[in-house]
Amino acid sequence: SETVERHEFGAEVGRLLDLVVHALYSEREIFLRELVANAADAVDRRRFEALTNEALALPAEAKLRITPDKAARTLTISDAGIGMGKAELAQHLGTIARSGTRAFAQSLAEAPAGEKPSLIGQFGVGFYSAFMVAERVEVTSRRAGTEEAWLWASEGKGDYTLAPAERADAGTDIVLHMKADAEEFLEPFRLSAIIRKWADHIAIPIMVVKDGKEEPANEGTALWQKPKSEVSEESYTEFYRHLGHMFDSPWATLHWRAEGALDFSALLFIPGMKPFQAVEEERKSPVRLHVRRMFITDEAELLPPFLRFVQGVVDTEDLPLNVSREMLQATPVLARIRRAVTNRVLSELKSKAKDAEGYAKFWENFGTVLKEGVWEPGEHQKDVAALLRFRSTAVEGWTSLADYVSRMKEGQEAIHILVGDDAAALAKSPQLEGYRARGLEVLLLSDQIDAFWPERLGSFEEKPIRSITQGAAKLTPAEGEEAAPDVSALLERLKTALSEHVSEVRATDRLVESAAVLAAGEFGPDLAMQRLLRRAGR
Ligand code: ADP
Ligand code: MG
Repeated sequence: SETVERHEFGAEVGRLLDLVVHALYSEREIFLRELVANAADAVDRRRFEALTNEALALPAEAKLRITPDKAARTLTISDAGIGMGKAELAQHLGTIARSGTRAFAQSLAEAPAGEKPSLIGQFGVGFYSAFMVAERVEVTSRRAGTEEAWLWASEGKGDYTLAPAERADAGTDIVLHMKADAEEFLEPFRLSAIIRKWADHIAIPIMVVKDGKEEPANEGTALWQKPKSEVSEESYTEFYRHLGHMFDSPWATLHWRAEGALDFSALLFIPGMKPFQAVEEERKSPVRLHVRRMFITDEAELLPPFLRFVQGVVDTEDLPLNVSREMLQATPVLARIRRAVTNRVLSELKSKAKDAEGYAKFWENFGTVLKEGVWEPGEHQKDVAALLRFRSTAVEGWTSLADYVSRMKEGQEAIHILVGDDAAALAKSPQLEGYRARGLEVLLLSDQIDAFWPERLGSFEEKPIRSITQGAAKLTPAEGEEAAPDVSALLERLKTALSEHVSEVRATDRLVESAAVLAAGEFGPDLAMQRLLRRAGR
């Protein structure tokens, strides 16, 4: 009809669709996981908006309904969620709004052909995964609070149409016109099995229509509210993948309930891999805050920035349902929850650190982030310091400050560190010569942030942490070493010759083979710090 508008997809969508449609699918069934997740999100959002706008209130039972129709070869997924208006349909379904999807499309494009299917299967590509099983997708949606409905339709080939439509209530119907080879997804039994496998953590009831009757396909209870003993490892993993758009398994799962002074349930995950989106990008904890199971916000910063790699949910009884943004900032309840949750994560890390090999995996993924915890002064500084791991001149692999201290030699006063950009280069530095000759261990630090935190922390187990490039080395003579000859005349001449460039020329016992080395002053920034400052133009 004349009212149908035709639009081109954004260039990125076109490319993504091409990849999705032309890869081979070992796990096509994940399209259902993606569409159900979107529907559940939409219901959450409507419930939240209804708190401040009664007109948007959800119908008594906000179920998701999945209706297969073999005769018409269609599968319909209906929700009573927030819905989409015309502009939202164009924006959300016509472009790639989510940066995670963009990053994913990128890595998908670069992956060798053989790996594409599993990438898609494990990760999911959101709404567009519908085109793995459907030759045509129709979305009829009515935004809550508005009267008009719109029909978005596409065959996944470069364009989509938008036209006015009818829908009795707010919400969304997604109608998939299934491909001939995807009829298996019209079997109610198969659909229920997929829901149980991929979407059991969804907190609202999901019904599959069979012979005109609705049958529940999930339990519809929030996973974190269940006792640990009733949650399978697969459910935890699926929930974790859903939360963080991850496709691995969690390195650690923390699930507990606090009762008494504070009342909350928490289900947290420490990822087993670095997420696609660099953790460095957003310095805020993504942990979601729920009040009595209802999603409130993912911006409550329930964990400090140095634990921002932790994913999960905290659900409390101690806040009112209509909690406002201002209140979230001011309430002491959140501060107490934050503290309890932070301590729990740190103690979990402490206990997992006993397994050196397992802990190394975590450390290699998130160690640089965790180090910010010793840089940010606060009550957790000491606990975090004990969790740090380092390369060292004395041992292979990773070592801790506590282990270093236990290896310190008689009379050794400080923890010696050498900071630089490149771990391999550090190990060969002439700065180490004098320490090596005396059998003194030096920790080799090569992360950006290593230029900053040692000074903040100052000491560990009362041993001062000292950069070996700072000040005089004050090393005792190595065994069998002759007393140093008098070089004061040479020093004077060097000082005159270099007067514009250095503030001091000293004899040192930090070298064995090399003739000279640069050192930093006793009290100023050490060499690595000076390099950083120079780079920053200071
Ligand atoms: P993501 O869910 O990660 O944002 P998707 O590709 O799955 O990415 O979905 C894109 C967007 O489309 C969603 O963020 C949402 O705004 C919108 N959307 C998809 N399905 C629905 C739905 N059933 N109801 C309302 N909005 C939806
Ligand atoms: Mg989605």
